[in-house]
Amino acid sequence: MLHKILIADPAQEWLSHILSEAGNELEIRTCTTGVTFLETFYTFLPHLVIVDLMLPEMHGIEILKRIKGDSKYQHTGVMLTSFHSMIQNYNSAMELQADYMIDKPCTPHKLLGIISAFFSHTLPPIPIHKIQREQILHLHPHKAPLPEKASYIRFWGTRGSNPVSGPEYVRFGGNTPSLEIRTEQDLLLIDAGSGIRDLGQSISWDNHQEISILFSHTHLDHLSGFPFFYPLHQAEHKISIWAPVGFEKTTEETFADLFAYAYFPVAFQDIQPRLFFHDLRDSRTYHFGSIQICTHYAYHPGSTLCFIIHIQGKKIAYVTDNEFLFGNQTLQFSKIDGSLLDPYRSFISFISGCDIVIHEAQYTQEEYASKIGWGHSSLTNVALLMKYANIKHWIVTHHDPKHTDTFLLEKEKLHIEALETIEHDCLVEFAYDGMILSLRQ
Ligand SMILES: [Zn+2]
Ligand SMILES: [Zn+2]
Repeated sequence: MLHKILIADPAQEWLSHILSEAGNELEIRTCTTGVTFLETFYTFLPHLVIVDLMLPEMHGIEILKRIKGDSKYQHTGVMLTSFHSMIQNYNSAMELQADYMIDKPCTPHKLLGIISAFFSHTLPPIPIHKIQREQILHLHPHKAPLPEKASYIRFWGTRGSNPVSGPEYVRFGGNTPSLEIRTEQDLLLIDAGSGIRDLGQSISWDNHQEISILFSHTHLDHLSGFPFFYPLHQAEHKISIWAPVGFEKTTEETFADLFAYAYFPVAFQDIQPRLFFHDLRDSRTYHFGSIQICTHYAYHPGSTLCFIIHIQGKKIAYVTDNEFLFGNQTLQFSKIDGSLLDPYRSFISFISGCDIVIHEAQYTQEEYASKIGWGHSSLTNVALLMKYANIKHWIVTHHDPKHTDTFLLEKEKLHIEALETIEHDCLVEFAYDGMILSLRQ
């Protein structure tokens, strides 16, 4: 029987060598682009196609999907060839029923051997891929001279919504939220925004084989750094993920989506055995060694929590995404009536008594007018919150990505003015990437 083969490969020289060695029992056609492949395929109707993964105009996986997904052609053999075989391409090809993966360079002789085995149904099992996951990742940690034994809270990302960089963001930094909470024995992380990448590479993990990360919610600015978290790719680490129960998917499903091949080169199933998922719920207390965490809903789209951290005898609130006093645009304390305040009474009592409240104030009063309902607060409304809860130390974080260093320095003055207007004595500090809050009993 004459076997018809269509080989699609941009390398002309390789194709001509194959043609010159092929015997009479093979009828081989060649093409060098995706468009000519399709034209030839539907008229030539080959028994086997051999397609370069990076075929000009049309990716090899797309061709594979098209052929195997069409009941008329699904019995056509499909082999993919590549100079740059990567494990994720290999896995995708296998999922889509590829018949074989051929690593290039491959001699015409070897290729003809594989073709012959295919038609005589003696093709060996698809070779185990040579590339190991560890070779794909080139993460090299370095140890920063951080005080291992001290107790502190360190901000690794203080930007909200979206990471930023550039000369106008040097002072406050541009990473999205990630917080390190440390006592002499214990370590707890909150959120995995882009800042967790630096965190993962900068501190020693020797004494922390098991790591817990709390998530206020799973919006991208709190999640996008997670795939780049160094210990995630080290076999000796186990990572517990604590997140609020979501509306659409379980936390595990949300994280699995984050590791789809379309977004990241490491497969979720490769790290899944070392990940442990736990639900966080409102109005609960959780213990992580000597660190105690209490939760409360935040006023933000989706299922979002804020935290109180009990550590070294101190009580510190961490509220990154919270729209307090929805729609209120006045700073007059007396004009805030009960009905506006009612939805927040439980939240106000939650943070009352805190030594420090870390709370966003993403917008100025003017900006808030056009951002009502976006899930973030105006600085004036958070100033009112500080007075209602009688807080004496407010650290502002989750800065708007549009706010440059110069703007934030001006905004700092607006915070002070707002607190003076409502006659509330409260220290205001602006968090920045790398800020350390030292905790002594
Ligand atoms: Zn956020
Ligand atoms: Zn959010």
